[in-house]
Amino acid sequence: MEVAHAEMRLELLCETVRFSAEKTLFYSNLKSVKIRSLSDLESIPLISKIDISKSGASMLTCRPDVGSINISSGTTWGDYLDASTLGGELKLKNLAEPAFVYRSPEEDDLCRQLTISNLSAGLTLRIDNGTHGARHYKHAKEISFPLQKPFHYAAIKKIIRDSPKIFGESITGVCGPSNQLKNLAAMQDLAKEKIFSPFGGPDYLIGYGSFVTSKWRKLLGETYLTELTDAYAISEILGSGSPQCNICKAYHVQPWVIPEIINPLTGLRALSDSGELVLTCLLPFSRVQPIIRYRTGDIVRVRKCAIDFSFLPCGKTGDSVFSKDGQLVIGGYELLERLDSIEQINKWHTPNQKMLGIPSSYGPPKIQVMRELTSAKKSHNDQAKPGIRIELSKNHKNDKSLRDLIKGIINSDGHSEEIFVDFGEIDESTVRMPKQ
Ligand SMILES: [Zn+2]
Repeated sequence: MEVAHAEMRLELLCETVRFSAEKTLFYSNLKSVKIRSLSDLESIPLISKIDISKSGASMLTCRPDVGSINISSGTTWGDYLDASTLGGELKLKNLAEPAFVYRSPEEDDLCRQLTISNLSAGLTLRIDNGTHGARHYKHAKEISFPLQKPFHYAAIKKIIRDSPKIFGESITGVCGPSNQLKNLAAMQDLAKEKIFSPFGGPDYLIGYGSFVTSKWRKLLGETYLTELTDAYAISEILGSGSPQCNICKAYHVQPWVIPEIINPLTGLRALSDSGELVLTCLLPFSRVQPIIRYRTGDIVRVRKCAIDFSFLPCGKTGDSVFSKDGQLVIGGYELLERLDSIEQINKWHTPNQKMLGIPSSYGPPKIQVMRELTSAKKSHNDQAKPGIRIELSKNHKNDKSLRDLIKGIINSDGHSEEIFVDFGEIDESTVRMPKQ
């Protein structure tokens, strides 16, 4: 199957590059690029969120009949905050300009059909981040609810209970950004309720957009009464949504997307089996706004699978620890997984959780990467070793055996460089909080 994908991808890549060069100002210098093999893709410059933010309009192949505008706020908390917020006041007029990706209604339809048709034919409840009230997509058989205020919990409970009367059937599937699935689970946990149990739970639960540790997978399973299927997706790449593979437990990109792994420091193809994921979306997707060699900011490890190339997301470039030459030492998600169950570590209390009345004990562990790739110049770059700061709760600040245990957990697999672990208070105004 891999060969078939490669042949199809090469054909579509030639067409995508030719089309983009002809139709857009941004890619016009690709007219001279000759694509004979997939590795020729390397001769095309990489682009990042900043390019889309600054030059998105000159990437358009036509004046679009817009079906949707995807605004990338990103899974990295802080993308929408100006640097002046770091240690200072938020200056609204200085907010970073978001990256807009435009889609035609046809592209939206195509994407929706492909993702929805993979689900069961039943009624899907989407627990969303949206702020514009509930929407009901008639053809997609999907009810979308925000979860931003405590009363939304009651509203979701009501729609689950009343859906047989309103729609003639029970909710059969639940999906949404994983942070919201977690918030709903936390609220159920706090209320000591199982709001899905009258129907025996949905048939499927699909989450995306942020990392879910095994501790949270267990809680999600208990409260939704079904196991989480995680999906990788980024809003900039149309149709990038890829559910976790049953065979390799990693993620496969869709056949119409080409993956590459680069060294995040040099931008060159990674020689090791980890690095930053770069994606190119092929025609017929992104016909309105082609996206070629997009740096996702996602750090991944490559996995072997009989089906096709697969990868495991291990963190973002901004929350992972790298060696001086850009090699991954440990990913931000890998750190969360290892430290999530240690109760004595203080937890982040995210704005979302605060609004929903969820206590900080449900938050992710409070850790700060001290030598991340993107902020090496900001602080701590004089550290001899890559470092992580961990904030312990008041009563355990000086617990030596706990400190040794944590150091051991972090350095248990003999990384290329030993990770320095510092225990101290974290100044929240200087650190990006993980999305919860
Ligand atoms: Zn697989």
